[in-house]
Amino acid sequence: MSIKTRFAPSPTGYLHVGGARTALFSWLYARKHGGKFILRIEDTDLERSTQESVDAILEGMAWLGLEYDEGPFYQTHHFDRYKQVIQQLLDQGDAYYCCCSKEELEQLRSEQMANKEKPRYNGKCRDSTESKSDRVAVIRFRSPVDGVVTIPDLIKGDIVVANKELDDLIIARGDGTPTYNLTVVVDDMDMQVTHVIRGDDHINNTPRQMNILNALGAKLPQYAHLPMILGSDGARLSKRHGAVSVMQFRDDGYLPDALLNYLVRLGWSHGDQEVFTLDEMIEHFSLENVNVSASTFNNEKLLWLNHQYIMNGDPAHVARHLSWHMGELGIDPSEGPSLVDMVKAQRERCKTLVEMAAASVYFYKEFESYDEKAAKKNFTVGSDKVLERLHDEFIEITDWNGEVLHQIVLNLAEAMELGLGKVAQPLRVAVCGSAVSPAIDITLSLLGKEKTLARILRAIKYINLN
Ligand code: GLU
Repeated sequence: MSIKTRFAPSPTGYLHVGGARTALFSWLYARKHGGKFILRIEDTDLERSTQESVDAILEGMAWLGLEYDEGPFYQTHHFDRYKQVIQQLLDQGDAYYCCCSKEELEQLRSEQMANKEKPRYNGKCRDSTESKSDRVAVIRFRSPVDGVVTIPDLIKGDIVVANKELDDLIIARGDGTPTYNLTVVVDDMDMQVTHVIRGDDHINNTPRQMNILNALGAKLPQYAHLPMILGSDGARLSKRHGAVSVMQFRDDGYLPDALLNYLVRLGWSHGDQEVFTLDEMIEHFSLENVNVSASTFNNEKLLWLNHQYIMNGDPAHVARHLSWHMGELGIDPSEGPSLVDMVKAQRERCKTLVEMAAASVYFYKEFESYDEKAAKKNFTVGSDKVLERLHDEFIEITDWNGEVLHQIVLNLAEAMELGLGKVAQPLRVAVCGSAVSPAIDITLSLLGKEKTLARILRAIKYINLN
């Protein structure tokens, strides 16, 4: 049977890095083995699920480029099927109505807590002969009482749980709606999922799900439980550690491939290789090499990786993502140099696309004012003369390119007996508004003749007025 994995988020919030890593590992496993990857939205908790979260999950998956072969499926579309399976379990005697009231259950719970016992249902209605009382009844799964369930976990090895530790879980609520463990089981079975790869916060559910699958005579999938992701303080990664939403990383200027690369290394390794192309990830990925213990999210390392991807990635690819950030700044990139050239000029010094976009604005739009410190330092007595001379030379150029521009700046410094900085820096501040930019010849050639000349004139005027 060919391999099928799934990512099954509940739409109760954005797609966070933990979920994205689960999705990535499931996706990689399917891609590596020529299998299929499914997206299933687990939206049966009507109170907590929102369309906004569904959209955020789809947007996150699309941005990461984790394309699914089937889905998105919505569990709310499968209610009839769940009812059918619940009825089957009732008919087989593997499920029963439970009429215990909330008060009774609370009373039981507090007694068990007082006796330092694990709170669990005592099975009161398990053998009751009444099929359904007038009281709103829930339906419970008749869990085996003896023996053990062994999860042959592909990451953690065998996990053995005694059935007596598991109580009879509710599979349908009083209003008839199915619960999580039931819906997951039905869908995994119907969708023929072969590998359930998910966070280890689900380990407690797995033996219950296996028991239900056994009762239904279904083939069990293989399980792989991924260890947690922690923040730098050792606590479970959450909002207070900074960005955890996938889309926040986009907003902060990360490339999706850099984030994927970071996520794949979070709990998985292949020797000491740090940087992987997607194809390399697929080639080398294996569940056996997933760490057993939790891993810690490290923002510095992600930033380093992002810079690697910006520096070494295909400039056209980086430019596509930069374009989005330029748009966020209200810039239309078609009104200036090509973004591909911009990426090439800026990538050494920009670790994020937010930095790169901010450092590129003046190529597309007139800056409002000069950086005060830079103007004070570089627009000094005589710098207007330098700028005038440059203007006179530049205006004559018919072939506006870096080499010609570089030569003019060099020659002028020599002719005026000035250090190169005394020519290049006023020029830089004149055209960029600040003292930071790519090499001056690259800056000018990207900016173009018209903008360069206009900005030199603007600076001369400024110097004369100040
Ligand atoms: N819907 C569950 C969640 O978001 C995941 C279910 C599963 O992977 O089995 O935590």
